[in-house]
Amino acid sequence: MVLPSSSMFLMFSRIQSIKEESQLETLDEDVSSSDTMMERRIRLKSVNVHITCTLCSGYLIDATTITECLHTFCKSCLVQYLDDNNTCPTCEIVIHQSHPLNYISHDRTMQDIVYKLVPELQENELRRQQQFYKSRGVPFPKSIGANEECVETERTHTQPPDSDTQDYHRSDEQVNICLEGRGVSMRNLKRKFIRCSSQATIMQLKKFVALKVFNSSAKHTDIDILCNDAILGKDHTLKFISVTSWQAKDTPLMLHYRQRVDL
Ligand SMILES: [Zn+2]
Ligand SMILES: [Zn+2]
Repeated sequence: MVLPSSSMFLMFSRIQSIKEESQLETLDEDVSSSDTMMERRIRLKSVNVHITCTLCSGYLIDATTITECLHTFCKSCLVQYLDDNNTCPTCEIVIHQSHPLNYISHDRTMQDIVYKLVPELQENELRRQQQFYKSRGVPFPKSIGANEECVETERTHTQPPDSDTQDYHRSDEQVNICLEGRGVSMRNLKRKFIRCSSQATIMQLKKFVALKVFNSSAKHTDIDILCNDAILGKDHTLKFISVTSWQAKDTPLMLHYRQRVDL
């Protein structure tokens, strides 16, 4: 999801206010100094309020912004909070009566700023996540990146992208899914963990499975895709399904495919 441009404005005003604070501080500290360095040291303390999650009081991890009011929190803190609430923890605006999770969005710019400003935060977080997955014997999703398969049904692999604008939706929000076959006629995929755009639809996933299992994406009509044993509509996006049927859990979205059953 692309954040509205007002978010960029907010980001800009945040940076502006960080700059102003740092100028104030240098004025306080260094009036007598003849130091004319272009770069000035800013105390992390003076920036902290802009890069801290008010829910956990830690530095923002997986910064996630509410698209209604543009307040930002850690993804895990916010998702957990929205389990029981539908309002912003800061300004208490009602995000959405029933589906607040549809109105939050990963804030990459903010996260980049946090990682730039806080030394070793990114390395420590990565290490922490790797240990978490290791202790549970679950493959680490971010390490799948190297040999991931992307759902590219509209184009073939032999065609190179025409230009920079064709990025196979890699700049979209991504979703991790685990895709398993059901029934005797359905062999399992060579790689069942897939990372692809959250904007991909069930129809595209069906074509992908048909291509892998039957060597023909045209056989997508023979495929049902299920989540929690319910057949999924072809027009739903993975974003919609992970939010409505998978409760945005921090684990790959579990989907099954099977030979289509006429009801
Ligand atoms: Zn937090
Ligand atoms: Zn808010």
